[in-house]
Order: sequence, then structure tokens, then C-alpha cells
Amino acid sequence: MRNAIVLTDLRKNFGEVQAVAGVNLEIADGEFFAMLGPSGSGKTTVLRLIAGFEIPDSGKIEIAGVDVSDTPPFNRDVNTVFQDYALFPHMTVQKNVEYGLRVKGVAKAEREARALKALERVKLIGYENRKPSQLSGGQRQRVALARAIVNEPKVLLLDEPLGALDLKLRHEMQKELKELQGALGITFIFVTHDQEEALTMADRIAVFNDGQIIQIGTPIEIYEKPANEFVAGFVGISNLLHEAASKAILGKTGTFSIRPEKIKIGSAFDRKASGIVTQVQFIGSFTRVDIELSQGDRLTLLKENDGTSESNPVLGSTLNISWDSKYEFLVG
Ligand code: ATP
Repeated sequence: MRNAIVLTDLRKNFGEVQAVAGVNLEIADGEFFAMLGPSGSGKTTVLRLIAGFEIPDSGKIEIAGVDVSDTPPFNRDVNTVFQDYALFPHMTVQKNVEYGLRVKGVAKAEREARALKALERVKLIGYENRKPSQLSGGQRQRVALARAIVNEPKVLLLDEPLGALDLKLRHEMQKELKELQGALGITFIFVTHDQEEALTMADRIAVFNDGQIIQIGTPIEIYEKPANEFVAGFVGISNLLHEAASKAILGKTGTFSIRPEKIKIGSAFDRKASGIVTQVQFIGSFTRVDIELSQGDRLTLLKENDGTSESNPVLGSTLNISWDSKYEFLVG
């Protein structure tokens, strides 16, 4: 498949800060790609470099096979949706969506037709004549999306676009964004620090830390086989077995990660351990149980409340646990 974006040894410093420290990345045409990482890890700077809002110190940026490293933003075949939406407050919804086409000199009738089509795609027909202040947060978000897709760019860049929405609306918009991307068939590159958002929406994820990509993979690869301790800790709840516990329980050296849902109460699986229960938290469909091993590491397990298993463990008691050894991964 053709690549929508290729980044080669991209670097960007702001004074003393190495914001982007040698990023190499290939994103395929039509991919839904997430850049995930903690605050300050450089993901927004990479997005801004692709858009052309920042100039790299070195490295190359290709969009659809063309080197755009020296191309100004308005000549790059990408559009950006910002977290704060950046809508014009004095313009109606429709005028906001038409704006980019007007700047490009597209005739009035075509402008209107294309704006209405974009508004239809984001389910905002009937709101054309409202001002942004007369809309809810989710509706404003949709206007920003309509404005970004009206030009039919090859690549849509989204900078934490759901960050300002409450949890329920966020979940709704996650589904809608995914559907919209499927319908449009264009490449979406999405910046987020929310691991759940990246896992549920993306075809592939790049995990950033300190201006570098630590791991690239599908959500399942990133979650099930974290490359190192950082990824294991940043994506999902991570259980780490350090040297002493690895030796005693696994008979191996190194640091290992096991996901909480893989650990079961009892001794049905080949890896067996026991520890003192230090916390029991009921969270509805699951109960989260923390135990402390005699070697010092703490493990969290998620016990499903499906009515089939025994009652919740008692704080301070000793609990036998086990897991299938195929779910433990060397991370350091
Ligand atoms: P967040 O999730 O908080 O947006 P991020 O991963 O997107 O974080 P960036 O915004 O790319 O991180 O920032 C990377 C580093 O570069 C940070 O240390 C930041 O303070 C710094 N930085 C970003 N933009 C500038 C700028 N214009 N001037 C100076 N430093 C900057």
C-alpha cells in the first residue's frame, strides 16, 4: 500500500528542549493512526511539523510521495482539527465551513453545495445558520471537523480533538470519528494522551516519550506485547515482576509484565504465586484486587463479577493466584 506520510529522521529543538529527537515513521494511505504519549513527549510538535506550522531542524517530511519539507502549510494536502476548534465566532456554521473554499476562490454555488455535504457527513444539517456560541461543545467539534473535511484533504490531522468533551460525549464522538474516517477513506493522524482512546480507535499506534517513538504497533501488539517498562506502564495497568520475583516465580532473569486480566485467583494455570491482599476495589463489572508478593512487587488483578466466581478476597488475607506463562513478557 502507498504511504500517506513518511517521516525520516525528523528533529526539532526549541532552545534547549529536544522536542522531536529523530523520528522515523511511515503511515499508510487510509490508516487511522494515533500518536500517544505523556504531556511534553513531542507528539503535537510532530503533528505541527507535518502540517507545516513548524519547520524541522533536520529530516524529511513526505506527503503522498512528495517531499514537502520546504512547502508552506497552505500548499500541503493536509487539514488540521485543533483541540479548541478555532472557529470564527462572528460567522455562521455554514460560513465557517465554507471559509477555506472562499479563500481558495471556489464559486458561491459550489461552496454552498460542498459545505452542506460536509455538514451532512457530521450530522449538522439544520444548524447552518447558527453561530458557534449557540452550539454545544460536541456540535462545535463537528463544525471543526466539517471545516477540515470540506477540502477533501489526503490527510486529516487531529490534535486532541475530543479533549474538551465530557466522557459520554467523548465516547460517542470516538465512534463517529471512526465511522467518518471509514466513510471518507482518508488518512487520520490523531494526537492523544488518552491510552483508551488510542486503543479503541486506531489501526496503529506510535507511543512517544522524550521526543522519540518507543514502539509502533497495532493496539493489540502495544497492549499485549509492550516493548519496555515505559510502554507497559503508560498503556493500561501494568504488573511488573522485577529481578527477585522473576527469579523466584518465573525462574528467569529480567523484568516481566503481565496484564491484570490475565491473572486469576486460584491455581489453575502454570505460573503460580501468592501474596497478601492490600486493596479490594469494587468497580461494577470488575473487582480490582491488589496483592503484595513476598519479593516486594505488587500485582493487580481484575476479577470479573459475572456471578460464576467466588466472593471477593478479604483485605490482609493470603491469596493464591496463577496465570498462563504465555502472557508474561520481558520488558527490561
Ligand atoms: P501535550 O500532550 O502536553 O500537548 P506533547 O507530547 O504534544 O504534549 P509537545 O507539545 O510536542 O508535546 O512538546 C514537546 C516539548 O517541546 C515540550 O517540552 C514543550 O514544552 C516544548 N515545546 C513545544 N512547543 C514549544 C515552543 N513553541 N517553544 C518552546 N518549547 C516548546
